[in-house]
Amino acid sequence: MSAADKAGLMRLPAVDRVLRWPAIEALIGAHGRPLVVSAVRDELAALRAAGDAGSDDAIAAGVAARTLALLAPSLRKVFNLTGTVLHTNLGRAPLPPEAIEAMVKVASGASNLEFDLATGKRGDRDDHVEAWLRRLTGAEAATVVNNNAAAVLLTLNTLAARKEVIVSRGELVEIGGAFRLPDIMARAGCKLREVGTTNRTHLHDYADAIGRSTTLLLKAHTSNYRVEGFTAAVDEARLGALAAEKNLPFVVDLGSGTLIDLARFGLPHEPTPAETLANGADLVTFSGDKLLGGPQAGIIVGRADLIARIKKNPMKRALRCDKLTIAALDAVLRLYADPECLVQRVPAIRLLARQPDIIEALAQRLRPVVAGWLAGQGEVDVVAVQSQIGSGSLPVDLLPSFALRVTPSGAKRASGSALERIAAAFRALPVPVIGRIADGGFLLDLRCLEEEANFVALFDGPARL
Ligand SMILES: *Cc1c(COP(=O)(O)O)cnc(C)c1O
Repeated sequence: MSAADKAGLMRLPAVDRVLRWPAIEALIGAHGRPLVVSAVRDELAALRAAGDAGSDDAIAAGVAARTLALLAPSLRKVFNLTGTVLHTNLGRAPLPPEAIEAMVKVASGASNLEFDLATGKRGDRDDHVEAWLRRLTGAEAATVVNNNAAAVLLTLNTLAARKEVIVSRGELVEIGGAFRLPDIMARAGCKLREVGTTNRTHLHDYADAIGRSTTLLLKAHTSNYRVEGFTAAVDEARLGALAAEKNLPFVVDLGSGTLIDLARFGLPHEPTPAETLANGADLVTFSGDKLLGGPQAGIIVGRADLIARIKKNPMKRALRCDKLTIAALDAVLRLYADPECLVQRVPAIRLLARQPDIIEALAQRLRPVVAGWLAGQGEVDVVAVQSQIGSGSLPVDLLPSFALRVTPSGAKRASGSALERIAAAFRALPVPVIGRIADGGFLLDLRCLEEEANFVALFDGPARL
């Protein structure tokens, strides 16, 4: 007999009757009628489809569970133990408490977002961050938009719509999440003029390509890959000099754009906007939530006349940041006033600079906790791994770290499906724990785990694999 035939024979209660059960009336009292009605309909439809008559108690419990599921927030906190510190799919940089407090203060009421308190006249939302961006990058002017993709789009659209932009073939980057430089250029309305080859581009390639319709030279920081071997690229200073000689703006998309030299924290050096401007760039674009460690934003710094044109583009209005972003960015930028304190106060930098021996000690403390939870269903050991910075930053520069490796008990070689089940059990914890499957195990890289007590508290019940 098919499920539908069985359903025909069984007697599920009518929606109206279920709504009069005391347990369901209590749910309506707590959460309102419309939600509970749709939960009852969904529950009965699911039972009918499954050919399951269900007891009254089971139906009431199912309705309660569905109502709570409808009310649960969709966007939730997770533990990022993937080993990728600035993980785009997991929200990139964690914000410092100063930024969170700043957002809370402006979120609940009115603020001087676009209001000049000195004159009582209309203000500009960029004013809250521009002075600090100028101070930290040495730029004449700055503006901020929704993200760096928007910053590149807006810059190109303002300065080069219907005109030609020269880019090296070696720099036609794709960043995860569908940012592809040629596509952004097309949407910005400019014509891409590729020069050089994938592995080698010379100054004369640019010089030869400059023609009547050329309006700017663009350099994109190849942040997520490295071309090795027989290669040549034109450095910023030489390209800047050529652009100046030809009187063309020189724009650099830095991507990560750390505001300080990361080498002081033992990390690989990434070019800073200040260095790039000093090398002759007229404008530099970079993200707020990558190495800067702030909220999602796109920052454009450089020549005042070019920034003024960008701010007048109607597209700026469509791409602007909201007040919460401005509040958070303002707070994070001020932490850069004292570079000595950054490694303590900016979480993204603190996590990137975290020492392996600290992570290993944490792994040793947590191993029995996770092993106890698995109660023989899996084995846990501590292994040396390599973390990635993420967000297209320096993928070839890995950071030594330590992980808990979970493998199914008794298995000589862990099968893919067994590891998937383990990963799913960690995702189903009250705060989902996201790791990665690699090296024949499920790895939890502990570089980004700072809330040790909250993490330990997740593991008090038995695991269900
Ligand atoms: C990350 C990146 C972008 C896109 O920045 P978003 O802030 O994610 O929009 C653009 N260009 C480069 C070189 C990048 O690394």
